Amino acid sequence: MTETAAPSAMDRFALDAQEQQQMEELYKELHAHPELSMQEHRTAERLEELLEELGVEHFRCGGTGVVGILRNGDGPTIAFRADTDGLPIAEDTGLPYASQARGTLPDGTDVPVMHGCGHDTHVTSLVTAARLLVRERDAWSGTVVLIFQPGEETSAGAQAMVDDGLWDRAPRPEAVLGQHVWPDRAGTVQLTLGPAMAAADSLRVTVFGEQSHGSQPQSGVDPIVLGASVVMRLQGIVAREISPLKSAVVTVGTFHAGLKENIIPDRAEFTVNIRSLEDDVREQVLAAVERIVRAEAEASGAPEPTIEKMYDFPVNHNDEDAAHRVLDALQGTLGEANATLGPPRMGSEDFGRLATAIDVPSVFWFFGGFDRAGDDLPVNHSPFFGPVIEPTLTTGTRAALTGILEWVGR
Ligand code: ZN
Ligand code: ZN
Repeated sequence: MTETAAPSAMDRFALDAQEQQQMEELYKELHAHPELSMQEHRTAERLEELLEELGVEHFRCGGTGVVGILRNGDGPTIAFRADTDGLPIAEDTGLPYASQARGTLPDGTDVPVMHGCGHDTHVTSLVTAARLLVRERDAWSGTVVLIFQPGEETSAGAQAMVDDGLWDRAPRPEAVLGQHVWPDRAGTVQLTLGPAMAAADSLRVTVFGEQSHGSQPQSGVDPIVLGASVVMRLQGIVAREISPLKSAVVTVGTFHAGLKENIIPDRAEFTVNIRSLEDDVREQVLAAVERIVRAEAEASGAPEPTIEKMYDFPVNHNDEDAAHRVLDALQGTLGEANATLGPPRMGSEDFGRLATAIDVPSVFWFFGGFDRAGDDLPVNHSPFFGPVIEPTLTTGTRAALTGILEWVGR
């Protein structure tokens, strides 16, 4: 606590020993029971049980999404989102509460499942913040909408909740807040003004050739040579077509073709992931990918290729006024040195859709989850991503409370 902190206000919201234990147990339980995107059935049931226990009205939304509405008299309404899904990763943290869970991908593949992005810390922090808001009802007034969103990792969940009438069924908030754990020192938070996280577009490209014997290339069209040319040429988009002062990423993450070394196959299929921070850059990269794929196919004398959109994430934009307000409040609660401004990131989030659906501002920040800072820490989506329990959870809880209390009347 620094001199800039407002001890009297936040001290009321300190956890007692029992609440601390409930928080840690909930985290370990969630961590041991991760579920794949849009299949968060156990998590949703558990959240309904917890909200019931706290006496918070709630409803299901978007399949496995859960919304709690904490009404506490007159005053502003604020929404806070925690995402609930895990990832198809075999956990290798060695933690005593490590996941042994398995799940089934939409294509039927059986996979190990892990809370490899730390969404369990988000859920635990928001549940704990709700518990404290209920306990300290006379310290604030207004309405808090608690959004437990499924399917962040597939960019399906926020849209599913909006499509399922989230904002017809919950009161419209003045802003939507959210947070994400990341590899930095626990106890710290960082936020960005303006574009905070990149838009992402994923494409599946199929280029076609003509099948032939490996010894007789003249009788066919080789889709592997064609595909390889496309992959190399795509690298020129960021290097040669986008201004060096702008940001974009073009990654080919999968490439599949052929079954045997002496058969020229009839097709090659690869997936492209594109990141950008500005709409015009996004349009420029998408157009360049399409132009290159089609032109290379033509250059090979190959049939027309297909380009399918798999999914996209919008740019996650932090409203500058709202973000300043949150930053000042977080500096007050966590200390100035522990709440800082940072650069935008090329990672992506579907969080922004919740706010853009009703045209209200949103603010999203990161909180540290490790006992130190450092480039050698495991990153989100790594099998070694195992945040320390404390002070990660206390910080996530305090940061959530700080943001919420900044809006609802004290
Ligand atoms: Zn993730
Ligand atoms: Zn995540």
